Amino acid sequence: MYRGRFAPSPTGPLHMGSLVSAVASWLDARAHSGAWLVRLEDVDEPRCRPQCAASILRTLSRFGLHSDEEVVLQSRRKDLYRDALDSLSRNGLVYPCACSRKAAGNGPYSGACRPGLPPGRLPRACRFLVPPGPVAFHDRARGPFTQNVARDAGDFVLLRADGYFAYQLAVVVDDAAQRITHIVRGADLLDNTPRQLLLQQALHLPSPTYLHHELVLGPAGAKLSKQTRARPVDELDPPAALRRALAFLKLRAATLDEALPEWSSRWPAHP
Ligand code: GLU
Repeated sequence: MYRGRFAPSPTGPLHMGSLVSAVASWLDARAHSGAWLVRLEDVDEPRCRPQCAASILRTLSRFGLHSDEEVVLQSRRKDLYRDALDSLSRNGLVYPCACSRKAAGNGPYSGACRPGLPPGRLPRACRFLVPPGPVAFHDRARGPFTQNVARDAGDFVLLRADGYFAYQLAVVVDDAAQRITHIVRGADLLDNTPRQLLLQQALHLPSPTYLHHELVLGPAGAKLSKQTRARPVDELDPPAALRRALAFLKLRAATLDEALPEWSSRWPAHP
C-alpha cells in the first residue's frame, strides 16, 4: 500500500516551492490510490514557530490538501529519535564529538573525534560513523544517483550540541514509523538522500522510493526558502496559485483532480 507524505518545516508560511512539493506528493499518492500524510518537521525547534505550523495547515486546506491521518509534529516524537540513537550507539555506529561548529567547518567532517574525545574535552554532539564507499539509488525523476558520503559529507551529526536531534535522524525514523513507501520532494534534498539511506540500513529500516522534483527558484536563481522570507503563496487566490504550481510541474490542468491523469502518464505507477 502506497503511503506518501509532505513534510514542511514550520519556519515560515508556505511558499511556492513548498506548494509545488505538497502538490507533487499529493498527486503521486492519489495516482497510486495511496495515502497522503502531512508531518510538521519542527525538530529544529529554535527555528520553528507554532504560528507557522498553523498557517501552513490552513493554507494547505485552502488548496484542498488534507492529511489522510492525524498531522504529526516532530517536537513530540523525541523518544523515538532517542531510541534510534540508542540502538545505533549499542551497535557502535555513533560517537561523541567535541568539535565546535567552527572547528568542524562547513566541508566534510574530518573525523577528528572518531578515535575518541581529545583529553579533557567534553562531548558536544553525536555523530554517525559513516561507512566508506559510494551510496547509490535510483531517483524516479533523475535516474541513478551516487554519492560517496564518507568523502563528501563525512560523519554527520545526529544529535546536535544544543541537544536537538538532527533532521537526518528524525526524517528517517519518522518515514519508517509512518510506513512511508514513496517520497516526493524538492531536488534540494537529493544530496541528503544517501545519508538517509545509510541511516535506514544501519537501523534495519526499509528504504522508500524517491522522486526529487525540480526546484522553484527565486528571481536571482536562488532557492526559495522560508528563512530568506520567500513570499507566501497567495491564499486569497488559491486557484491561480495552484495553476502556477501545476504549470511548474509541467501539468496543463487547472485543478488537482484534472491533473491526476497527466501526472500518472508522466510518472507511471511505481512499485
Ligand atoms: N522538512 C524538510 C523541508 O522543509 C523536508 C524534508 C523532506 O521532505 O524529507 O525542507
